[in-house]
Amino acid sequence: METFINLIYLIAAALFILGLKRMSSPVTARDGIVWAGVGMVLATVVTFIHPAGSEDFSRFFLINIAAITIGGGIAWVTGKKVKMTDMPQMIALYNGMGGGAAAAISAVILIQQEYSHDIIIQSMAVLGALIGSMAFSGSLIAYAKLQGIMRKTYRFENQQLVNGLTFLVVILLGINLAISGSDYSMFGLFLFFVLALAFGVMSTAPIGGADMPVVISLYNAFTGLAVGLEGYVLGIPAMMIAGIVVGSAGTLLTQLMAKAMNRPISNVLFSNFGDSSGEAQEVTGSMKEIEASDAAIQMAFASKVLIIPGYGMAVAQAQHKIWEMTKLLQERGVEVKFAIHPVAGRMPGHMNVLLAEAGVPYDIIADLDEINEEFKNTDVALVIGANDVVNPAARNDKNSPIYGMPILNADYASNVIVMKRGKGKGFSGIENHLFFEENTRMLYGDAQASANKLVATIKEL
Ligand code: NDP
Repeated sequence: METFINLIYLIAAALFILGLKRMSSPVTARDGIVWAGVGMVLATVVTFIHPAGSEDFSRFFLINIAAITIGGGIAWVTGKKVKMTDMPQMIALYNGMGGGAAAAISAVILIQQEYSHDIIIQSMAVLGALIGSMAFSGSLIAYAKLQGIMRKTYRFENQQLVNGLTFLVVILLGINLAISGSDYSMFGLFLFFVLALAFGVMSTAPIGGADMPVVISLYNAFTGLAVGLEGYVLGIPAMMIAGIVVGSAGTLLTQLMAKAMNRPISNVLFSNFGDSSGEAQEVTGSMKEIEASDAAIQMAFASKVLIIPGYGMAVAQAQHKIWEMTKLLQERGVEVKFAIHPVAGRMPGHMNVLLAEAGVPYDIIADLDEINEEFKNTDVALVIGANDVVNPAARNDKNSPIYGMPILNADYASNVIVMKRGKGKGFSGIENHLFFEENTRMLYGDAQASANKLVATIKEL
């Protein structure tokens, strides 16, 4: 029985790794999710049959039933109902739950004192508790920010000092817990968890503007690491491997996101992202409107059009119409490409997912690094519901909260057409100078409705 159970854990672990491998390409990503999902079902079922670390089968049975029925039921319903544009906050929330679960396992292990004689296991449990607690409370704050529940960034004087001191106290309490075996105070344990949770809140609350992608992927990595550590403590290899896979994938993603934002990762927790002391540059000029028919004519008679999708395209679900428009332009001999910013939308790869769903071939989709040089030879840059990722303030205004973030150089194109509903700001909440430029025209309206009009006009030409 033991061998059989371990074999199933091994198969589950292999499925996690292979699933992740398949997720690295949009062509095989869907399969990858299914493979990893099957691995998770196998691991859950086997754990259900063989509750690790507990002799009390009935208790575990009930917990598993309750957890699977209630937890699985809620996840199923919310997963079915969630809108594509709300997916990032849901991921932040569920990611936080993973961290919280790992921290809760640690709490039980530390309270039960089953391993209090083993300093290695105690240390792993304490580390898992710290990282899991931070991932839990930090992800909840990230959820509140993405959901628009928490709109402000909370900063106060000497915040970094207070954060640093809190972290130091948590570390000291943690070391004490790890080395004192069964001889620890319940108050110390309680304080350790409270401060670890508080640290997650305090280090995420000041982060604002366009920097949330880095934080979300960092907490994703944290959750993986915490789960991996708890897998070690409980002696479940599949849990360890799943945690390590998530932890390392999350770490790589964090590095990519930090690179995309041009921020060193060391700044993530100990510095205020997007913090600027001076006044941002005043915007001059006015926004000039264009009719859909004129915009369509401009593109139909251009040689090269670069399309920059952003969060607004996801809200409007305009990707199918935009692809239809692209095909019409291509039939007329116009060269069309899609330029993707790594943090466009509200989750890593958001735009790639939407374009893949609409059937846009990958060879006309280009990343920022590949495409940015091409804008200066482009007749029309069509910005669809993107804002922060094309804001030249990131390049020109030292006092802008997004200063230093690489942007797509839409403003270098001969003409810029921006599709958005009105004067709404982007995620970072700042004004966009691009919309006021001489060569920019605003095509107001919901992106899907505007795309319909563009398609209709091009068809008539
Ligand atoms: P932004 O959030 O900067 O801007 C989106 C724009 O879309 C708004 O200005 C809005 O203007 C417009 N819009 C909204 N709904 C519609 C609609 N139905 N039709 C047409 N336009 C619409 O988007 P970007 O993609 O440029 O930038 C992403 C931002 O999100 C960055 O700051 C990034 O850091 C952040 N972020 C990214 C994450 C990621 O992992 N990718 C995660 C978390 C945050 P209006 O209201 O006038 O229509």
